[in-house]
Amino acid sequence: MTSTTFYSAGYPVDPNQLVPGTRIRRYTDPAPRSQLDAEMPCCDRTARLPGDAVQDQHLVMCTPCGQLYEVEVIDELDGGYGAVFTVRPEHPVLARRRSTRR
Ligand SMILES: [Zn+2]
Repeated sequence: MTSTTFYSAGYPVDPNQLVPGTRIRRYTDPAPRSQLDAEMPCCDRTARLPGDAVQDQHLVMCTPCGQLYEVEVIDELDGGYGAVFTVRPEHPVLARRRSTRR
């Protein structure tokens, strides 16, 4: 199932609504060295988008929520930037340190 639902910035999202394809716009705050801090849609965490946050493509994972997003930075044309999160269908798995015992 793929969603085309769009949530505006500041609009709360129920975690059950974070199905693949859902797009959520969120506010950002400037961070040092052209980075941007973007509010996560799933919880009260922040994603610090690295590099040139405005030009680069971003793949963001929320570890506690197990949620993966593509993030596009949008020029708000008022000196600030927004971030549009698109929910990815994958459920990421974290690699673990290999056990020394077999
Ligand atoms: Zn989260």
